[in-house]
Amino acid sequence: LLKGRLAVVTGSNSGIGLGIARELARAGSDLVLNSFTDRDEDHALARDMAKEFGVEVRYIKADLSKAEEARGLVEKAGRCDILVNNAGIQHVAPIPEFPTEKWDAIIAINLTSAFHTTAIALPMMRKAGWGRIVNIASAHGLTASPFKSAYVAAKHGLVGFTKVTALETATEEITCNAICPGYVLTPLVEAQIPDQMKTHNMGREEVIEKVMLDRQPSKKFATVEEMGGTAVFLCSDAAAQITGTTISVDGGWTAL
Ligand code: NAD
Repeated sequence: LLKGRLAVVTGSNSGIGLGIARELARAGSDLVLNSFTDRDEDHALARDMAKEFGVEVRYIKADLSKAEEARGLVEKAGRCDILVNNAGIQHVAPIPEFPTEKWDAIIAINLTSAFHTTAIALPMMRKAGWGRIVNIASAHGLTASPFKSAYVAAKHGLVGFTKVTALETATEEITCNAICPGYVLTPLVEAQIPDQMKTHNMGREEVIEKVMLDRQPSKKFATVEEMGGTAVFLCSDAAAQITGTTISVDGGWTAL
């Protein structure tokens, strides 16, 4: 399906990014994996994935909170047929106590980095005559929750940026869409559980059921494989006329 394509997936040594990278590799795409670390295990992950799926996989370190590193990631990739803007962080606090440096980091990583990578990827896609951009937004790109001001602002911004990118490429063989996951049990979500337990004065199971999955009518976490399958679909020929929109994979969250 995607043989001969090169996909750059940001924030892909863990969680949803890794799940998406694996499904793209399964569909035959070569890969550039990324995170802000440069550990042996990051490069081992690339080697193992290359062996498992019989595709080329490179790991490129880039801290996406920095404009030049975000741009440098796509420049170093050398080509970019598929761009998945996935890297993201979270912080939960009421607005008056929300640390400014957390606000700035969330906006930089979750929103601004997608602008920088897209700015470098688009000329490459135009040269190749084909491209797919998949932005990983969130149910919080369409709805809000208290205490997640920076995250909700960044994800709504990412959905808006997705639409503009789609309009600027509408007559070309390039599409840009956003996937809006509900809760997926990844390290990012694991890290929120202790905070939520404290905020709501509940135990782990209770916080999962009553707080986290409260708004997910399926009462199940979505999986990283489901995010990967959706990304592969958006990269397929069947999705050629799908652009500038969002696909919710949220167990019914945004239907409520
Ligand atoms: P995760 O913490 O498992 O993965 C985040 C990835 O981003 C990691 O690979 C991490 O190394 C990378 N990253 C963080 N800061 C970075 C930086 N400065 N530079 C480069 N890479 C950086 O989290 P996840 O749950 O897999 O989240 C992935 C994306 O999905 C995020 O954008 C998140 O907002 C979004 N999302 C997650 C959920 C969920 O329930 N897990 C729901 C909706 C949206």
